[in-house]
Amino acid sequence: MNYNKKSVKDIDVSGKKVLLRCDFNVPRDKKTGGISDETRIVAALPTIKYLLENGAAVIACSHMGRPKGEVVPELSLVRVADRLSEKLGMPVKMAKDIVGDETKAMAAELKPGEIMLLENTRFCKEEEKNDPGFAKELASMADIYVSDAFGTVHRAHASTEGVSHYLPAVCGFLVQKEISVMGAALEEPKRPLTAVLGGKKVSDKIGVITNLTDKADTIIIGGGMAYTFLKACGHEIGGSLLEEDKIDMARDIIHRAEEKGVKLLLPVDTAIGDSFAEDCQSKVVAIDDIPSDWMGLDIGPKTIELFVQEIKKAGTVVWNGPMGVFEFDKFAVGTEAVAKAVAESGAVSIVGGGDSAAAVEKLGYASKMTHISTGGGASLEFLEGRELPGVACLLDK
Ligand code: ADP
Ligand code: MG
Repeated sequence: MNYNKKSVKDIDVSGKKVLLRCDFNVPRDKKTGGISDETRIVAALPTIKYLLENGAAVIACSHMGRPKGEVVPELSLVRVADRLSEKLGMPVKMAKDIVGDETKAMAAELKPGEIMLLENTRFCKEEEKNDPGFAKELASMADIYVSDAFGTVHRAHASTEGVSHYLPAVCGFLVQKEISVMGAALEEPKRPLTAVLGGKKVSDKIGVITNLTDKADTIIIGGGMAYTFLKACGHEIGGSLLEEDKIDMARDIIHRAEEKGVKLLLPVDTAIGDSFAEDCQSKVVAIDDIPSDWMGLDIGPKTIELFVQEIKKAGTVVWNGPMGVFEFDKFAVGTEAVAKAVAESGAVSIVGGGDSAAAVEKLGYASKMTHISTGGGASLEFLEGRELPGVACLLDK
């Protein structure tokens, strides 16, 4: 896949109407419906400001939540328009709907340097169906399409892919950073490329592991998925997370790594608990000493040492998946040690995956990473090497 895509800087936006797909799917307070975290709004500002300052009229759009094609008032973007207006220090005109006559008229009257926001794109069922007629109507309001919602580029929806059939399509700064940093890490990494993989299930990550086995020099496996690999190597893993039906797959991956000369590291010790609970009894044991009624919930100190030494040698680290149940403080030790090692490695460091990103934030290492991908599902599909429809549809450089 080509990750070298044209951005807003490679196209003349002056005097043009720009349909800008943002990710304004912000977390909301359950009781009041207010915006509880404005990170995504703040993140969208650089592209918006660039467009406005360069003489474009911006027609912003986004989805929020899962209204499933119905108008759900609680999922209106009105509050986003207000917050965005505060952040920009200028009015943001809120449209009543997405492609209605009044909205189209509002777009037609929009002047260079002005911004309006369409209603939640998922209020129309045509959005998720990627209906060509709907995409065409959306596109009819603008001269250029700008994609800046990385979290949805793995979906071929009308506002993420469909409109590109009717407008020249380029990326904004957020999408550009995601695809250029992650694209470079996968296509021409500073070597050695070390993949640190963890998280819950092998089944969620088969695509990621397989793709990275073809690209990385070293693969480190921790987290819940490590126990299926350990079982495949003949270890007894007690009550640890096991996917019986993935044991053969794990064995195949181990062989594949061997054949390709990829170094694959698995835990040599583990922190175990007598139940899956914050206040369980816990201790550290060697990987062959897990009692049948205990479960592995984190990597142990010898494993940490082994993994950290390997991470120190890396030129690029791609990390997806926590090393243990980091939500429980006493099983966050492995994840924290790995986060620290990655942050201090001096390597190009990329974190992908919703829980991994949350863990790195929680543990305070976010600012030390080269890049933390903001799209949970999208970054996983990226690491799987899959073509992302919302990226593939953009103009090549
Ligand atoms: P990401 O969202 O970064 O892709 P995953 O969703 O695959 O990561 O995995 C994160 C989850 O894996 C966390 O909720 C964590 O508690 C869980 N996890 C990690 N290690 C273990 C383990 N040993 N046993 C059970 N669950 C685990
Ligand atoms: Mg997750």
